[in-house]
Parts: sequence; structure tokens; C-alpha cells
Amino acid sequence: MTPSLSPSLLVDLRGQSVQVVEVGPRDGLQNERAHVPTADKVAFVEQLAAAGLTRIEVSAFVSPHRVPQMADAAALCAGLTRRAGVRYSALVPNLAGLRRALSAGVDEVAIFAAASETFSRKNINQGIDESLIAYAEVCRAAREAGLPVRGYLSTCFGCPFEGAVPPARVAELAGRLMEMGVREVALSDTIGVAHPAQVWDVVGATADVVPVAALALHLHDTRGTALANVLAGLEAGVRTFDAAAGGLGGCPYAPGASGNLATEDLVYLLDGLGMVSGISLDGVVAASQHLQPRIGHPMPSRVLQATGRSTGQ
Ligand code: MG
Repeated sequence: MTPSLSPSLLVDLRGQSVQVVEVGPRDGLQNERAHVPTADKVAFVEQLAAAGLTRIEVSAFVSPHRVPQMADAAALCAGLTRRAGVRYSALVPNLAGLRRALSAGVDEVAIFAAASETFSRKNINQGIDESLIAYAEVCRAAREAGLPVRGYLSTCFGCPFEGAVPPARVAELAGRLMEMGVREVALSDTIGVAHPAQVWDVVGATADVVPVAALALHLHDTRGTALANVLAGLEAGVRTFDAAAGGLGGCPYAPGASGNLATEDLVYLLDGLGMVSGISLDGVVAASQHLQPRIGHPMPSRVLQATGRSTGQ
């Protein structure tokens, strides 16, 4: 007998809303070697907002010595002409970063914990428990200031140092982030090893602890599985996905990690499914095309390449 796919999932998704969190200006540019001038970053963010992205992570208020690409976070925020209805967010590692983010007038902040102990120590120089104690302080202060907090959870699908990460561990840590007041947990495939069955397992385990509406998936396309993982996430009930225009980025502390899932590739899939994102594919392509000469290499987005705009010409 010939096996056949049930069409029910695809039919069900038609007309449903889906949210894309654009992380290119932060997660993308943070991990590119090229120095991108602040004015070009401002233009990039403004073009992404014009393309219909309503959540944009614009920068990180981290140590400029450790992450020189993000040293202009305040200048970038000051230079932005903000668009109504767009939430501009930034990553903050601690209370000092939060204070800088508040001064810059961001609409949301994000903290970054990890699901594996070794990655946590290598990435932020703290063990998981220690980091959560510090992040609880950041959460409390952010909420007192009226800012929503997003929590990244790295290495949910595998750690470059420890290998497999149990879904139950991911669920437990996601629950602890929610308890401290995080509004959304981004389950992150830091090294791009996730596959669809695993997405189903991890989201399923986590959704027992955290409402699925409060979950986002942050995927990398290292092994070519990012879009398949999006589909598995949609099937599991996730409606928020991170992506970076052009497929910018990687992770300097995760050996072998390639770029983030490209916003263009995600929007192409969502459009094809008939889902409602409010994002113009042409608009995102234009934003990537404009930035590309500043990056120093062709961007990996398949849609960008297919439109013949990936050579920086
Ligand atoms: Mg990433």
C-alpha cells in the first residue's frame, strides 16, 4: 500500500495567524564578522518594519568588549524612526544591560538561559541555576518598568558539548522561566540539530508545563531541517517563530552552527500554507538585498538566492 500524508494539517492552517519574530539585526549581525555601520543597521530595521514585521529584536545591551558588533545598541535605538504597532526589543544579560535598554526606550527585553549546563557556562559563564537567580532579578526589574520579557532557552534540541538534552529538562526550565515572569519562551535549536519528530517531542513535553501560546521556536538551518521543523511546530500548536532576514547569523559559542532560519524562507512557506503573517516577502527580500553589500558574503536564504538577488549586485 502506498503511504499518503493526511491533508488535514495543511487545511487547518489556512487563514490562521502566525507571528514572526525578526532576529536578524541582533542574533544575525551579532554573529557576522563584518562591521555594519549604525546607519545601515537603522535602515535595515526600518525596512524590516516596513515589510510588516511587528516584532524586531534590534540589538543587545551586552559588553561592547565581548560583542563589539552590538556596541552601538543605544545609538541604533536613538536613530530609529519607530513605526506604530511594531515592538522593538533587545537582549539584556543583566541589570546593567536592562538599565541601558530602558534608557534606550525598547518595548521588550530578552534574557538568555540554556538547557545544558556546559553550554550555559561557556556562553554566559554561569551555571543554569546561578543564571536563573540573576535573571529573576532582571525579570522583576523589567516588569516593574512595565516591559515584557522574553526568555531564550538555548540548546533545547542538543548541546555541542553534552549531546542530547532530555525534553523533560527543557520543559522544567521553560516552566521556571515562566514562573519568574517571562511572557514567552523561545525554544532554541542553537546548533541546528533538531528534526521534526524531536520538535514534536520537545514542544509536546514543554506544552504540558507552559501554554503552547507562550512558546516560540528559534531554529537554525544547519542541517537543512529548519522549515520541516517549522511545520512540525505548527502541527504541535506553535504560532510564533524566530527568523533572521537573509539567514544571517550563527553562534560563536556553538561550533558548527550556521545561520538562523531565513525570514524570507519562512514567509514563503507560511504564504504557501495560506497562513496570515502580515509580512511582505518582497519587502523582506528588499531589506536583505539592501544590507547584503555590508555583510561581505552572499546571504544563505534560499528565496533570496532563487530571486537572483543574493550576489550583492
Ligand atoms: Mg539564532
